Amino acid sequence: MTEQNASALVPAYARADIAFERGEGAYLFDEKGERYLDFAGGIAVNSLGHAHPHLVKALAEQAGKLWHTSNLYRIPGQERLARRLADATFADVVFFTNSGVEAVECAIKMARRFHHVEGHPERFRIITFEGAFHGRTLAGIAAGGQQKHLDGFGPKVDGFDQVPFGDVKALEKAIGPATAALMIEPIQGEGGLRPADGEFLRALRRICDERGLLLIFDEVQTGVGRTGKLFAHEWAGVTPDIMPIAKGIGSGFPVGACLATARAAKGLVAGTHGSTFGGNPLAMAVGNAVLDEVLKPGFLEHVQRMGNYAKQQLAGLIAEHPDVFAEVRGQGLMLGLKMKVPNTEFLAALRKQHMLAVGGGDNVVRIVPPLIVEEHHVREAVMALSAAARALETAKQKAAE
Ligand SMILES: *Cc1c(COP(=O)(O)O)cnc(C)c1O
Repeated sequence: MTEQNASALVPAYARADIAFERGEGAYLFDEKGERYLDFAGGIAVNSLGHAHPHLVKALAEQAGKLWHTSNLYRIPGQERLARRLADATFADVVFFTNSGVEAVECAIKMARRFHHVEGHPERFRIITFEGAFHGRTLAGIAAGGQQKHLDGFGPKVDGFDQVPFGDVKALEKAIGPATAALMIEPIQGEGGLRPADGEFLRALRRICDERGLLLIFDEVQTGVGRTGKLFAHEWAGVTPDIMPIAKGIGSGFPVGACLATARAAKGLVAGTHGSTFGGNPLAMAVGNAVLDEVLKPGFLEHVQRMGNYAKQQLAGLIAEHPDVFAEVRGQGLMLGLKMKVPNTEFLAALRKQHMLAVGGGDNVVRIVPPLIVEEHHVREAVMALSAAARALETAKQKAAE
């Protein structure tokens, strides 16, 4: 143990020096009782905000009955959540996991197994897109293809090829006899809120159909109402064959899922894949309770309304601070501010205004509040963003004098 680093934690995170004690809706309270407006949402996770009464009740009731049995037995909560997700989407079947990257891993294994049982085990490669993020396991970082995530972790897992985001020509050239699937985020989250346009997603569907490939939409961040549709691909009017989801479906409880058509999933028969914890009764109680709220009539319209309002307010902010903000991007309540100052510096200034947001690639500040926010929260956020911008402008002026 050294003086400077008395912490017993692996120093893998650059943490801000705040610890929160409790939360309520769109607010967090730190150890001193100071209130923060939470537009980071635990990285687009807390879809229903903090301590949502319906979720608290569902989790507490389940906690008093049964936590875990493993997948050696039927789990009624899984059967119910899978049925509800299938009824609301393109999917026929669902495999439950504990995180986003495990849902992505399931998608990758499912695509490889599909071609294997089709008699084409040579088709195992997956094409992904520059700027992608698919999680932090060895396969996840190989799929994401970002050097900063791959660095020092040994040979990159084989089976991933990458092409520029939005480039149909490059994609068609990259497809070969070993290609099994394409995988894309409808809006790149970690990569800096870059939306794939609808036409591009429709082209991917067409190419997959023509070439016998599977289409995977990674909706770990964009899913469960975040963009104002239940899933972001609905805006483009095309469906995938396989779709990993996570973040929003647990609203803070660790749960993920891989949704698929029956055809795409046909290789994952008994014994081929598994998870000890995946889909345990606690996670399923929360997932079902999240769906109770998100599927309520008017919920997604509310997200769309708040998203449009926020986007309009943020556009006004850019006009007021043209040296700090460059543009606003994204859809629904998955918004990003492209910055002209370092996003880390801005986020620190924003914390001083008692507001939280989250950084992203391409020097973006992600604005990903709980989906239950109201106009007054957005107005409060705009005031904090404006005050943080002013603080940086003043500091810059002083430095120039
Ligand atoms: C967050 C994220 C992941 C990884 O999820 P974890 O729960 O951190 O494993 C994968 N894909 C996308 C698009 C994500 O945003």
